[in-house]
Amino acid sequence: MIAAGLEGYGPPRSRYLQTLAPEMVCRSLGRSAPRAAALRGPLVCFSAGNRVGFPPDFTQYSMLKEIAQLLLLQDRDQKIKMYKAELETIPMEQRRIDQLVAAKNSAFEQARQRSWDLEMQKKRLELDAQSRRDAIVKYKGQQFQTRKNEEFQAIGQEIHRFEKEIERIEDEEIELMEEAEKISGKVTEAERELAAARRQAQQQEADLKRKQQTLEERLREAESERDGLAKGFEPDLLFRYTRLFVTKGGNAVVPVEHEFCMGCHMKNTTTLVHRVKMSREIVHCEQCGRILYYAG
Ligand SMILES: [Zn+2]
Repeated sequence: MIAAGLEGYGPPRSRYLQTLAPEMVCRSLGRSAPRAAALRGPLVCFSAGNRVGFPPDFTQYSMLKEIAQLLLLQDRDQKIKMYKAELETIPMEQRRIDQLVAAKNSAFEQARQRSWDLEMQKKRLELDAQSRRDAIVKYKGQQFQTRKNEEFQAIGQEIHRFEKEIERIEDEEIELMEEAEKISGKVTEAERELAAARRQAQQQEADLKRKQQTLEERLREAESERDGLAKGFEPDLLFRYTRLFVTKGGNAVVPVEHEFCMGCHMKNTTTLVHRVKMSREIVHCEQCGRILYYAG
């Protein structure tokens, strides 16, 4: 809980702060009961969760009611913006998960296809070798029947040619078998990796779904709170703030520190900074137009 201590401020300031909305009044200060009771009236507080984005010494200064409310509104708007941005990344994360599985699947399919191709080649070679063996049997039969020496020799040469071819085919078969063995290992490995990638993807998808649900829930909450807060604003101020929030990258209300606007980091005149410190009106940065509040 962040409390804006206002001790030392005169009656006009205290009276002004008494007009703050009930939710703006800090009811629990973490101090002793009598002390808290004494301070209860003239204190502005913000619910937990608004701490982010507030300067550390924010608590030391009084604040215009509208500024305090604008900071609450801005906090919700920043959260809405952040949740929406995170939700927009979800389809991309889903695609990344899908791509990883697709890559593993493709590697597995390629290895398996290569394995099938080798098997087909091996079968073709076996058929080739067998056809030559059959031919040799046939030639040997012819050779046995022939009476002519020349024909016997010619058939012998054919048999020899086929035997050489069979040797070459068998060498090829051995090479294929060696490669098939390696590929078989790769297929097993790729299949294992694919299964692991699918398991991991399943887990990641479940996490992503949970993340999406949480973000959507938080977004709905922030939007509902934002709508509630926006109702309390004067339309012109809400319009100016909203335009600034959109055009200034989600930072419409910023502190002024040592005369520098913390939005554009440019120096403002002492007179303007004094007006900010006085907290009696909405003051815009002379350089960037953002709404300023004093943070010491
Ligand atoms: Zn500025």
